[in-house]
Amino acid sequence: MSNMPKIQHDSDAALIGVRAGWLADGHGACFAPGVLVLRGRAIVAVGSPESIGTPGGLESWIDASDSGVMPAMVNAHAHLDLTLVPRIPQSEHFHDWLGGVRSARRAMTADDVRSSIVAGVQLLDAGGVAAIGDIAGINAPAASMEVCAGAGLEGCVFEEMFGMADRLAMCLASIASMAQGLEQGIEHDQAPRLRRGIQPHAPYSSDRRVFEAALGSGLPVSTHLAEGPFRDLLESFGLWDGKFEAGARHPINWMAARLRAVPADQNGRSTRILCAHLNDVDGPALALLATLPIDVAYCPRASTFFGHAGHRYREMRAAGVNVCLGTDSALNLDTPNRISTLDDLRLLMRRDHLPLADALEMATIAGARALGLDTSRWDFSLSPMAGVIAVPLGEYRAPADFGKTSTAPRWMLRPVRK
Ligand SMILES: [Zn+2]
Repeated sequence: MSNMPKIQHDSDAALIGVRAGWLADGHGACFAPGVLVLRGRAIVAVGSPESIGTPGGLESWIDASDSGVMPAMVNAHAHLDLTLVPRIPQSEHFHDWLGGVRSARRAMTADDVRSSIVAGVQLLDAGGVAAIGDIAGINAPAASMEVCAGAGLEGCVFEEMFGMADRLAMCLASIASMAQGLEQGIEHDQAPRLRRGIQPHAPYSSDRRVFEAALGSGLPVSTHLAEGPFRDLLESFGLWDGKFEAGARHPINWMAARLRAVPADQNGRSTRILCAHLNDVDGPALALLATLPIDVAYCPRASTFFGHAGHRYREMRAAGVNVCLGTDSALNLDTPNRISTLDDLRLLMRRDHLPLADALEMATIAGARALGLDTSRWDFSLSPMAGVIAVPLGEYRAPADFGKTSTAPRWMLRPVRK
């Protein structure tokens, strides 16, 4: 039995109207105030209260006139298995902090890992997230697939690999077996919108052969790229040998070589990779990035937590790069009661004066695109939505002031589950 939504049941669903303080979708279409009419998840009408009136056959109204109503969020880069890792005091050095996280994570049993993922999924739900790019560490991939599918989440569970030295052969075998499963259609039965993918941890912790096998596998691929100056980190892992720097001017140049090594798919499309962070990107790297099949998952609060400033996401977007949002692990967040890119989009509005339309696009459609999902499910076209959320506005009623709010979503309309 599938846990996933049965869309065909939506046609039998009641017609429901939502009165919103304002309505905005992933393309920035905005009505203030607005009315949304839904049958199940499918949008029947959207517009100003005057233009919609009271549609015939409407069964009930949901009053969200004190709230902003928008598509559910996409969190393109999270580590659900770290949700319950004990909080580690922030240290001066990233590698000290990460070392602490790694040893705490290593001490977790498979049951602990599962509990952590379950807690993470509950926090995503509290944050109005409908799609996820989860980075699943040891003992986490199967549990994450099961828990995320059970919760009706869409997106991708990326199995994390540290494919170096004595682990190289094992990682290559694992990628080959996942690719074979894909060929045999094993992945598609339970959760058609939740896929398995591969995450070589980073260029400094996985051999180039792991990246090239992953990119050639047909599976979604993600990694951490250009997180920041990383020589200290490598030294702390005992991995620094100077070869990386000698081999490529910048991690993006290194990735460009990996992407060039992979043939296009049967449809002639380039294989894409979802790269988290890109905190450390200079001018030439940015120019190169714009030519590559790379989606960027910017994690604003994680970036701040680790002391990075001046992320060039706006220049990336202006150059045509698909930049979406992620939260990274719950350990970096200032919202203990939720894990949501809703708070990252509001940070960008508040800190950088990013317009609501751009921020929402990054938190919804850009993430859906990066995870290979149908982006029309995050806009107000007359098609089924992945989800709809209402966020109370308090005194900040204008759409442009949304960044000043810090409220949790009051509700999320989700797919009908059978
Ligand atoms: Zn990460």
